[in-house]
Amino acid sequence: MTGGFPFAAMLITPETKLAGLPFYEAKLQKALAAAGFQTAGQLLRHFPFRYEDRRQAAAWPHGAGSESVSLEGTITDTRLQRFGYRRAVVEVTIEPEGGAGLLSPVVLRWFNMPFLQKTFAAGQDLVAYGKVKAAKNGRLFIDHPEYEILTADPAEAFIHQKRIVPVYHAREGMQQKQLRSAIYQLLEQITDEAMPDMLPTPSERGDFAGMSRALALRHIHFPASMEEMEAARRYLALEEFFALQLNVLHRRHTWQGLRGTARTGPGELYQQWRALLPFPLTGAQERVIAEIREDLAKPHAMNRMLQGDVGSGKTFVALAAMLYAVESGCQAALMAPTQILAEQHYLNFRRWLEPLGIRLALRTGSRREETALPLFDGAEETPQILIGTHALLSGDDALTNLGFVVIDEQHKFGVEQRARLVRQGAAPDVLVMTATPIPRTLTMTVYGDLDVSILDEIPAGRQPIVTAVREEPDTAQVTAFLKEQFAAGRQAYLVFPLVEESESLAVRAATAEFEKWKKCLSGYEVALLHGRVSGEEKEAVMQRFRSGTVQALCATSVIEVGVDVPNATVMIVFDAERFGLAQLHQLRGRVGRGQHRSYCILVATGENPEAVDRLRTLEKATDGFAVAEADLLLRGPGDILGTAQSGLPGLKLGDLVRDARLVRTARRLAADILSADPPLSRPENARYQALLLTGSQLATLS
Ligand code: ADP
Ligand code: MG
Repeated sequence: MTGGFPFAAMLITPETKLAGLPFYEAKLQKALAAAGFQTAGQLLRHFPFRYEDRRQAAAWPHGAGSESVSLEGTITDTRLQRFGYRRAVVEVTIEPEGGAGLLSPVVLRWFNMPFLQKTFAAGQDLVAYGKVKAAKNGRLFIDHPEYEILTADPAEAFIHQKRIVPVYHAREGMQQKQLRSAIYQLLEQITDEAMPDMLPTPSERGDFAGMSRALALRHIHFPASMEEMEAARRYLALEEFFALQLNVLHRRHTWQGLRGTARTGPGELYQQWRALLPFPLTGAQERVIAEIREDLAKPHAMNRMLQGDVGSGKTFVALAAMLYAVESGCQAALMAPTQILAEQHYLNFRRWLEPLGIRLALRTGSRREETALPLFDGAEETPQILIGTHALLSGDDALTNLGFVVIDEQHKFGVEQRARLVRQGAAPDVLVMTATPIPRTLTMTVYGDLDVSILDEIPAGRQPIVTAVREEPDTAQVTAFLKEQFAAGRQAYLVFPLVEESESLAVRAATAEFEKWKKCLSGYEVALLHGRVSGEEKEAVMQRFRSGTVQALCATSVIEVGVDVPNATVMIVFDAERFGLAQLHQLRGRVGRGQHRSYCILVATGENPEAVDRLRTLEKATDGFAVAEADLLLRGPGDILGTAQSGLPGLKLGDLVRDARLVRTARRLAADILSADPPLSRPENARYQALLLTGSQLATLS
């Protein structure tokens, strides 16, 4: 880009305030302020969401098309038609340069925006972008196109015409052309000196030798070719990943530097428990328990993530680890996201740990309970293991010596909640457990500060779950199938979609379905469970389901995570299209936990064939890693990372799926710098210091 401006000596850094920049006219200044752009960095990082190739006029359409096209034409007619009192349509007819000839003109239409008419005049050249539709008489239309009136001013035309043009998400108070001009003018002023590179020296950059930040910014906004744009995007994406990796790895170094407590014990409790178990642990469970034991024995705090497929037996790994912790003399706490799950863990732990004389306590919103405590002396009365929900967060008198924290289904908690539990102890060891495996690039990006253990083995003797997608099945058929299973002594879950917009709608839908299925399944016990059911009622229902009194449990996705009732063999998910694959895999994981053959039926409305295809991938994919990869590809990281952390701030250009290789490069670059200088205190590393986020910024990262 050539300058020609008298201000070339001015240094523009990302922090430079836009207000007062001499090359912006007053009107543009005002628009920028109205649109909320304050600094040069903000404006430069407002990246195009698409590009339009205006190097030559695109072919004029012959008929309707399913893809949006960009048309350049001259206005031959504008008119405003009114229908009745309130409805109006603005019609603007355009023809290709040199007249329509045999081609048909295209009419651009805007409904109920009569004020738009003033914008257009015959003779103007304009670019319109949208889908072409055809009327029966052959007339061509584009309804509500994006449009840009072309200017005759050559300096302006240079920015907006005869090139690959960036198109930006509109901001209130600013027109597309204004925004484009503002960015263009700013790019003319930036230099490599004032836009220092974030990345290590070019020689270490492999693919990106010769690239600089200023150049990449120019190319991403105003590329000469789409290849040039992609190279710039990759460079800037690498910067984003690098900043993220530097942060997560720096956090990890900080963690590792923290003094913790070496927790060691002879492992007798663990051996006693093992002797009670009626089945052997899987090899993966043994391996991971050993990894954790080693971590506990180290003098710094553990910060580890346990990933494992649904049903891989994460709970027992946590239990074993807690035994080592307890034996070393501290308390251990396990936090689960729902009351149902906390109660389930509590029952499970009681079953295995009461024989060992371990004191347990339960803390949920509606229930506090301690197992019978031997009253030798006061000190002995505190529980050794606490299990609970968020209720654990509000502090607890019994938590006097918390040394080990386990967070189950960690994706249901925010960082702040996890941190609050951790703060109840003095540098405790921490184990967070996932619901399903997480694709590696995602783990590296979001959880890069954690050590990872993977349970990649399912306990022996499980039968594969038969998964089937059914479009609008006959209720009678479903009923017959369920009754057959119930007659054989089995149980079923019927899950109705979560209506994200409204919990009360979801409850109503589940309630109506419950009434319906109660009639269909008369002769068997059907129960209802959803988020609005009171805590006590929930536990009572689960108790009846666990004990087999209830055959069919109608529920919203409250049973999505963790619930473990091995006798349940049927999972039917209605309106399955509404769920992400990772979530469905979770739901499917509620069955297939015992020796009986299990079924997962995904009921689809069939309205959207693509969504049905997506569901069909679950018929084949049984492995949680494969499902998570597919889900990441199809729906982005939200489903996998969960409700508490659906966004990945800091990633505007980087794409975790497409750019997996860049994530690895970024990690290597960051690791090299930090391993040589963990606190980043050397003068040459000062620039990296600036990339470290503050605690509260970090909190939004994972
Ligand atoms: P998840 O990893 O999904 O949390 P759980 O810990 O709930 O899995 O375990 C799933 C089921 O498998 C439970 O019923 C549990 O008792 C059982 N289980 C766990 N480990 C083993 C094992 N080594 N052998 C047999 N069954 C096991
Ligand atoms: Mg679990």
